[in-house]
Amino acid sequence: MAANVAPEPATAVVEKVELGRADPARIAADLEAIARIGGGEGGVTRPGYSALERQAHDLVGGWLADLGLTVSRDAAGNTIAELAAPGSKPALGTGSHLDSVPGGGRFDGVVGVVGAVEAVRLLREADVALGRPLRVVCFAAEEGARFGQACLGSRAVVGIGASDIDEICDEAGTTRAQAMREVGLDPTDLDRARWDPRDWAAFLELHVEQGTVLESQGVRVGVVDLVSGSTRLEIELVGRASHSGGTPMVGRSDALSAAAEIVMAAEHVTTDPRHRGTRATIGRLHVRPGNITTIPGYVACTLDVRDVDSDRQRLTVVEILRRAAEACARRGVSMRVRLIGDTSPAVLPIWVRRVVTRAARDIGVEYRVVTSGASHDSQSVNTAVPAGIIFVPSRAGLSHVAEEWTDAADVAVGTDVLARSLVELDGELAAIERIR
Ligand SMILES: [Zn+2]
Repeated sequence: MAANVAPEPATAVVEKVELGRADPARIAADLEAIARIGGGEGGVTRPGYSALERQAHDLVGGWLADLGLTVSRDAAGNTIAELAAPGSKPALGTGSHLDSVPGGGRFDGVVGVVGAVEAVRLLREADVALGRPLRVVCFAAEEGARFGQACLGSRAVVGIGASDIDEICDEAGTTRAQAMREVGLDPTDLDRARWDPRDWAAFLELHVEQGTVLESQGVRVGVVDLVSGSTRLEIELVGRASHSGGTPMVGRSDALSAAAEIVMAAEHVTTDPRHRGTRATIGRLHVRPGNITTIPGYVACTLDVRDVDSDRQRLTVVEILRRAAEACARRGVSMRVRLIGDTSPAVLPIWVRRVVTRAARDIGVEYRVVTSGASHDSQSVNTAVPAGIIFVPSRAGLSHVAEEWTDAADVAVGTDVLARSLVELDGELAAIERIR
């Protein structure tokens, strides 16, 4: 390939750039300020498309405006701040999300936003001007906890998810469209949030690992190769409620007993040797009427199946449902199943990963290549714009709980790799553009 063109210029340009190191105290203060919005004793509750989520976006938008970026909000509720550059080259992007699960932690998503803000500060302080715009993105409604489907903001930018805004709803029955209107967004405008892929060169996301690989290996940075997909279902089981004393055990139609079989089926299916790596979880179970002395006549539960192998992800769902149907038939319980979310796994582009690992080596940071079990905004972004994910350790692997913790010093190391990667991506892209 173009053997007569020497590719060194990019490297040469890159090597001249000296960035300072991210400041853990500044990072800790930013994390704290965001945690105050919706945070309390029982963790952080900042649902997607809520007033609290908007408040967090406004706070960060203010910081970015103070740093000289042009801040805007798109039709999906994503906040996008641009550090302009002369010319019209496709931009580099970085960022993550600011919503949380109910009773969640203060780091999931937030770390990627705070890291992005700190990376901008490092570029500013070192007087480094990239050859293309840098956009910091705070995605809206990443967590699937509220509407079942995850990554609503980042799916909108790649043109996915506009068709079901009146269908997907939260536990209170509020549709996504209603929730968007309540925070001043126009859901009929959603298509306008879509990015033109020609306008973006690459995207990087800093995120907490939400697992134990980094901590157990004593490594502070992970570079993600694969991101799990997930299939989410709502399962309704209708049996027959009746007196717990008067009704004999034989011939009952106990919806909760059927649900119990489904819970166990999910565990059995995913722990057989063929499914090593698949995760299945029933995280929500509503039992009606919910009396001590009445046989449960109705159960609604959710099923979340995740895998880095897309066939195995879907086949696992089919197998669990086959066993569920069998249990229901045996127990005289009827079953209704509704798909509430479905995302394929992502293989992140190797060239982006190579730039990130080189950046880590250049600044002397040890890393591991890791797989992500959780979904991330970059997974959606990657369907249109090449994306990479950098992990920092989660204490004891805990996430989506109040105990979630990542040291600010670790976030700072991840931010150093992020900032250096942005500079090196800029150089790498410049080299490619010169060849063209
Ligand atoms: Zn997250």
